[in-house]
Amino acid sequence: MAVKQMQYVVIGASAAGMAAAEAIRKLDSQGSIIVLSEEQDMPYFRPMVPFIINGKKKFPEMMLIGQGPYQGANIGVRLDSRVKAVNTAEQKVSIKSGEELLYDKLLVATGSLPNIPSDIKGVEAEGVFVLRTIADARAIARRAETARHAVMLGGGLLNLKAAFALLERGLDVTLIVKSPNVLSRLMEPDDTVLIREALNKAGMKLMTGSNVTQILSDSTGVIGVLLESGREIACQMVCIGKGIRANVEFLDKSGILVDQGVVVDKFTRSNIQNVFAAGDVAVTFDPITGERIVTGLWTNAAEMGNCAGRNMAGQPSIYSGTFGILNATQVADEPFVSMGIVHTKGTDYETHIRATPKTYRKLVFTPDGTRLVGALFIGDISKAGLYRYIIRERMPVKDIKSDIVNHRLHYGYFLR
Ligand SMILES: Cc1cc2nc3c(=O)[nH]c(=O)nc-3n(C[C@H](O)[C@H](O)[C@H](O)COP(=O)(O)OP(=O)(O)OC[C@H]3O[C@@H](n4cnc5c(N)ncnc54)[C@H](O)[C@@H]3O)c2cc1C
Repeated sequence: MAVKQMQYVVIGASAAGMAAAEAIRKLDSQGSIIVLSEEQDMPYFRPMVPFIINGKKKFPEMMLIGQGPYQGANIGVRLDSRVKAVNTAEQKVSIKSGEELLYDKLLVATGSLPNIPSDIKGVEAEGVFVLRTIADARAIARRAETARHAVMLGGGLLNLKAAFALLERGLDVTLIVKSPNVLSRLMEPDDTVLIREALNKAGMKLMTGSNVTQILSDSTGVIGVLLESGREIACQMVCIGKGIRANVEFLDKSGILVDQGVVVDKFTRSNIQNVFAAGDVAVTFDPITGERIVTGLWTNAAEMGNCAGRNMAGQPSIYSGTFGILNATQVADEPFVSMGIVHTKGTDYETHIRATPKTYRKLVFTPDGTRLVGALFIGDISKAGLYRYIIRERMPVKDIKSDIVNHRLHYGYFLR
């Protein structure tokens, strides 16, 4: 008797979707795998998108081709194929062209969308941008050819990356942040001294505790911004980086449970038996706090996508969760890692801080001091992987605590 060939449909051709497709193909050599993307470009490494703005990389250097075997693995990637709706009763997805695709197993891996606050007027003007896709980066780069001054709204990591790319192109850049400091999700104001120094040194103008209420424009597009204080600042372009939200609108009538993102169980399965979700669009949990979270990190999306792919192909695999905060990157040549619980003001977590003119290290232990739950390293991020392991595995620190605090930890401890 002939065995029925599985039809796998993956919505989203990025970290989660491509990792899932590869994992499926490793376990199922016969099934049909179709990956749909609403973008016009073949899959690429999204964290590199700012390099299109400053011209440091060209698109071919960012493509996922070569990093995964999908081209030779009979994985069909279809571009410009936005899914408008999912019908879970009839197991089909509707694409913007009007075509419908049937599936046996479906993965939702549509990532996130930039959040645009409704209380800022004038966001539709020419010269107002968000940075999510390669197409966004190309549009920003085009405007930057004639603009002299860019105003960036929001002090999160993505907006800082965009801001630096514009500085590197030679524009004047002003970063306007509502909260008292930059990177407020990844560290506390007191932790940011080295980052602020690096921003100043790079020539970025930083305005904290300020809020833009309106973007001003004329027939040439953006000409300035109006602050809550009544002050106007002239500029020719504005980038909005005010957080992200899960990309789920097209699931409205599907019956798939959404609460901040697609809610999944430990097998990355949604409330519908043959529908899975992974990456930025999925709600997962933090292994330290146990809280449900949406993350927004490439490695998490890829890990979760791989796990979803294995489950879809019939190999039960548990997703072990992810840190609510985990980031290893650099801002203005200042490398930093932030992971686990780092916001400790007003709490009774045991905190150890070591600061030198060039480095900052903050370690956070449970109130009884028996487990490491968070770490922030700026300037020197060596051995961060060891700390991540201790936090993630919830290791009792016992006899290695003083080595952790004094940064004498080495890989030998884990070989004993
Ligand atoms: C500028 C920038 C810098 C970043 N820097 C870092 C970093 O330094 N480190 C880090 O860990 N992370 C970084 N990130 C975050 C990281 O890129 C994301 O966490 C990751 O891309 C999430 O992967 P994903 O597969 O879940 O979704 P996404 O990468 O968002 O991809 C979603 C996919 O779904 C498709 N899609 C969406 N809707 C539809 C639809 N209706 N129909 C069909 N297709 C659809 C899109 O075309 C895309 O292929 C950065 C992100 C940006 C934007």
